Amino acid sequence: MSRPIDVLHLGRDRVICAYEIDGVIVDPGPSSSVETLIDRLGPVEPRVLLLTHIHLDHAGATGVLCRRYPKLKVYVHELGAPHLVDPSKLLKSAGRLYGDDMWELWGEVAPVPEERITALKGGETVEGFRVAYTPGHASHHVSYLHEDDGAAFVGDVAGVRIPPYPYVIAPTPPPDIDVEAWMDSLHTIACWNAKSLGLTHFGQVTSVADHLHRMRTALVQSAERARMKDEETFIARMEENMLDATDAATVECFEQAAPPDQLYMGLERYWRKKAE
Ligand SMILES: [Zn+2]
Repeated sequence: MSRPIDVLHLGRDRVICAYEIDGVIVDPGPSSSVETLIDRLGPVEPRVLLLTHIHLDHAGATGVLCRRYPKLKVYVHELGAPHLVDPSKLLKSAGRLYGDDMWELWGEVAPVPEERITALKGGETVEGFRVAYTPGHASHHVSYLHEDDGAAFVGDVAGVRIPPYPYVIAPTPPPDIDVEAWMDSLHTIACWNAKSLGLTHFGQVTSVADHLHRMRTALVQSAERARMKDEETFIARMEENMLDATDAATVECFEQAAPPDQLYMGLERYWRKKAE
């Protein structure tokens, strides 16, 4: 059985969810919330990290956890692996988005010893999980299906949805949004017929087909809006929609998990690259 763990990012609930299944952790979250993760794991000692991708809100604590648990093994897509070993490029790229808030948001980003890492391509089975390559949100994104119990762990591919509301947004930060690849990845996940989808933002969804439909619609709508409207209009519409569909406290969770200005930036860049 998989256990969702709210790591209370910056003290807020319903922003970042890690998962634990028999000592396997899917996406531990950042170092800034790693003490909460360890605390909530209780007596469980993590033995494996399955990373969906290397964005700091998902995988920032990987190096710190490797230091703390000398036997910990790490699985990550082959395009992400070099940036765990040497996080300098990752930090530079995140620094452009987060500026002076880097430390407060993410904490330490320690390098991961190369010998701990198994690089994935997608298509393999590791530790009882089927792996699929699921780019679109990030070029190095993979998803995992627990073969025994049918629970899928999909990182950011299936969007951001904050309980108790069914409203979904597509997280589209720079630099490598690819809408077509993302739609294909959603199809890959749909074909799993999983009994649940574990979202990092936030929690496990059991209405899988309905959720994937909402996610496709959200992605297409957001991409079209970024193509037709300027940044200010894009952000205003998104905030209106979120507030209509949820409540003020939940909007804060959405904005912490997926800042609307970044969502515009990622899509604007996608359209610009496509036009070139
Ligand atoms: Zn991400």
